[in-house]
Amino acid sequence: MYKDLSGKTVIITGAATGLGKACALRFGSEGANVVINFHSEKQENVVQEMVNEIKDLGGVAIGVRGDVTQEEDIKALVEEAVDSFGQLDVMINNAGIENEVPSHELTLDDWNKVISTNLTGQFLGCRESIAYFLKNEIQGSIINMSSVHEIIPWPHFVHYAASKGGIKLMTQTLALEYAPKKIRINSIAPGAINTPINAEKFKDEKKKKGVIDLIPMGYIGKPEEIAAAAAWLASSEASYVTGLTLIADGGMTLYSGFQAGKG
Ligand code: NAD
Repeated sequence: MYKDLSGKTVIITGAATGLGKACALRFGSEGANVVINFHSEKQENVVQEMVNEIKDLGGVAIGVRGDVTQEEDIKALVEEAVDSFGQLDVMINNAGIENEVPSHELTLDDWNKVISTNLTGQFLGCRESIAYFLKNEIQGSIINMSSVHEIIPWPHFVHYAASKGGIKLMTQTLALEYAPKKIRINSIAPGAINTPINAEKFKDEKKKKGVIDLIPMGYIGKPEEIAAAAAWLASSEASYVTGLTLIADGGMTLYSGFQAGKG
């Protein structure tokens, strides 16, 4: 628990599922005001259930539908958070998508979809929250959901890897630019975590084992383990931390091929 998160307002994009949902519940349990951004109408019921669950956990939550690729939707998201709770303190740019295609067959449409959701969507979330923090002299915190693929090349996912590599330097550049204003901008690089983005892959036991073999700690991460990293980064315990990519990957980026005398 981080006492200072109680009463803080946090926006989480793409928060009806997976890591965003785990972050929403974690911040709710910290007593925060949680703005659950969700993308599709089909997610309305699950978001309502989350709103109730967060109330039971001691927080307050609202759901706000919006598409992170749309400038007006991101502006509306920030406005709605401030109208509902009086102030915005933390922005978590989490929404992201991926699809597997050999790079020479990747359509421009697929490239644009992934870049506009994962990179442009996060840029818009950063820009709007920074503009709000500056205008209101708030020492806010921003967390961008990156990936180990800001470091590890990923064949068949070139658009995804490019988007996450972009998030790395976007985060560092913005952190440097706004450090004098005490606005902290960090990212989290999860390894392989058990969420809907991996559901198809993990249904296939062989593919799942192939992923586990890449993780020195020997298991697929839990969404709560990423939410815990987000809570720490947003809290005052991380008050001197900016421009960091916090890697939470069970050791995946440690060259697992070199384990146990190999190499
Ligand atoms: P997920 O598929 O459960 O979550 C993605 C969420 O983003 C969904 O709720 C989806 O509705 C939402 N979304 C998609 N397009 C959107 C849009 N245009 N506007 C608003 N919301 C939109 O998967 P997840 O694993 O929870 O992914 C969350 C983030 O974590 C992504 O950025 C992903 O790249 C990153 N990540 C995940 C893993 C992992 O192993 N699960 C690893 C590294 C990074």
